[in-house]
Amino acid sequence: MLNRLNEVQQRDVALDALDAERADVPAELVEIRAQRAALEERIAGLQGERDALRATVRSADVELQGLRERTKEASESALRADTAKEAAQFQNQELQFATRAQELEEDTLPAMEELEQLETLLSGLEEELGGVVPRHEELEEAERVRLAEIDAREGTLRQERDAVAADVTPALLKQYDQVRRARRGVGLVELVGGRRCGGCNMQLPIHVVQKAKKGGAVVRCPSCGRILWNREGDA
Ligand SMILES: [Zn+2]
Repeated sequence: MLNRLNEVQQRDVALDALDAERADVPAELVEIRAQRAALEERIAGLQGERDALRATVRSADVELQGLRERTKEASESALRADTAKEAAQFQNQELQFATRAQELEEDTLPAMEELEQLETLLSGLEEELGGVVPRHEELEEAERVRLAEIDAREGTLRQERDAVAADVTPALLKQYDQVRRARRGVGLVELVGGRRCGGCNMQLPIHVVQKAKKGGAVVRCPSCGRILWNREGDA
């Protein structure tokens, strides 16, 4: 019976190893995921800044066009004026609009320069991202293949485990599962040197050893609680 339980445990240990293998994502993939995420975050942030700057520049442009039209209108009105006084008034208006247009242009210049720098920075980062994405996708595809292969091995192991576990009584299996969970994945241990626990290495009391060697009943280590197995004596 414990022979079969040992076969169950072999599969359980292998299944635990698969979990560890699954979690062991290749370092290059971990790195490139972080690299891509950081680039995308940076690009998104800068795109937000760029959009705000574009809006600023565009609204200044609209205002500037309006001022230029009014400058032109004032200039034309000055030419059509009936009196010199009226003409002077329009000329004065023309000058005011032209001055405001010039001021606005100067005020908008830093935003335009900043926008240009941002566009350059952004296109550089987008180019960098463009270089990262194909390699990242390649690695993700390899990762899918790696995980699918682990899943396949897991499926086989689970089938095997279920098959051998069917030969073990539910009560023993339950005990084994409990000890295994409590004892870092090992629920069943061999007697070492005839009288020590193969799990915690404790020197076992002689009556425990005798009982374990006799077989028939489930005997557990008084120290660590693991099920003791005497391989040679097992039927
Ligand atoms: Zn023990």
